Amino acid sequence: MRALALFGGTFDPVHYGHLRSAWEAAELLDADVALMPASVPPHRPQPFAPAGARVEMLEAALAGQSRLTVDERELRRDGPSYTVDTLRELRGEVGPRRALVLIVGIDAFAGLPTWHEWRALFDLAHIAVLARPGHEPAFTAELDAEFARRRAAPDSAWRESPAGAIVPLAVTPLEISATDIRRRIGAGEEPRFLLPEAVWARIRAQGWYRR
Ligand code: ATP
Repeated sequence: MRALALFGGTFDPVHYGHLRSAWEAAELLDADVALMPASVPPHRPQPFAPAGARVEMLEAALAGQSRLTVDERELRRDGPSYTVDTLRELRGEVGPRRALVLIVGIDAFAGLPTWHEWRALFDLAHIAVLARPGHEPAFTAELDAEFARRRAAPDSAWRESPAGAIVPLAVTPLEISATDIRRRIGAGEEPRFLLPEAVWARIRAQGWYRR
């Protein structure tokens, strides 16, 4: 059975850095990928656009294809959404054998040792790590040790186990960030061609991210 992959983030707003990386991850992992907006990301400042707006932008961005979907489970839950709880819930749904993959950018991956019950993540899912230009973070010694022990190539046998590998993905480098897009909109610039036109049309119509 195909692996199921989850790509979490604030998506505030979703942009081509997320979308192209998610698409290439789906191809490299031979997986379906669900983009999962976070409601109260425990390690991040609070989002600028409300949850409903971030979902609306994701749905607009994903229209016309079915390989990438939106998973709203973290928005339905009260309180902080710890990734480990989300993966436990998902593992309960798919059963013990199906390969699950958590997709994170390398900047997020470097912070993994600060996540709630981070070592339990490896019992629940594989972790695919997206290269991201402008981000070459240092890993802590304990993360480095896990990386050395669990590292697997995308085309290797990782998917024969349900969880536990770390799979680096050399996706097309796109130096795009939501912070930069919000800054441009706040400064009165048009962020065209950094994100889908349908997303920009909604931002314009609703006035999100304007000062
Ligand atoms: P912000 O600028 O607000 O911090 P962001 O652009 O980093 O936002 P997030 O929603 O925080 O976007 O990111 C969700 C996930 O996508 C993270 O794991 C992040 O590392 C990854 N990611 C974001 N942008 C890129 C990109 N251009 N290339 C590869 N991965 C990315």
